[in-house]
Amino acid sequence: MKLIDTHCHLTDDRLKPGLEGVLSRAGEAGGVAFICATAHIADSAEAAEIAGRHKQVWCTAGVHPHDAKNVGKDYLERLKELAANSKNVAIGEIGLDYHYDFSPRDVQRRIFAEQLALAARLGKPVAVHTREAFDDTLAVISESGIAGGQILFHSFTGGPDEIRRVLNIGAFVSYSGIATFNSAADIRAGAALVPDDRVLIETDAPYLSPEPVRKMKINEPANVIHVAECLAVVRRTTPKTFAEQTTANAVRFFALDTEA
Ligand SMILES: [Zn+2]
Repeated sequence: MKLIDTHCHLTDDRLKPGLEGVLSRAGEAGGVAFICATAHIADSAEAAEIAGRHKQVWCTAGVHPHDAKNVGKDYLERLKELAANSKNVAIGEIGLDYHYDFSPRDVQRRIFAEQLALAARLGKPVAVHTREAFDDTLAVISESGIAGGQILFHSFTGGPDEIRRVLNIGAFVSYSGIATFNSAADIRAGAALVPDDRVLIETDAPYLSPEPVRKMKINEPANVIHVAECLAVVRRTTPKTFAEQTTANAVRFFALDTEA
């Protein structure tokens, strides 16, 4: 089985020191490619370094809504440079988070819109984080003019209603360990509706260990297999077929230069 973890934070202090082991365990579990998600400029630079050292790792560059209030004047210039890296495959993770509100909402919306515009200019796809801000997220996306097919909603937690709206704009959707939780029946009901060619999987490691390893304090890319197995059941297919679909979708969405 060949799996791609489309969103993991390999720069995190809980994963980076043991990265060789993390990647080898993930490889043994079928992981063939890993997209290192990023939250701010320094993080994006570090992700590019990691991707440069590991052929199975690719990276994004972006400013998370939590960090929106901290951007420097030249952040778009810096993102543009980082996006030019040969292993960069997307702008992300970007979006809106009204749960924590670590940055003022108007600042979050402005920084999100500016990065969407940059992605559209560069022809790069985007990885979107949205929490308790779904309507505004869709509004900012629609004003940005970026093509829906360039949007990936990462670690999606919406149910059938939200999924219909995501699919309506032509976007892709990625599921993390949250979809495996006992409490997540509504998320799984949504996941059952996503066409075979629009669904991806991820761990969001080191966060969100999936069932049945939810007790693992530090989630790892190797656990993407559990997300695949859970959703294969939900979607009435086999893990093998679902792995083939999600891997092909990841390769296509991120234009990954891999034999996977
Ligand atoms: Zn993330």
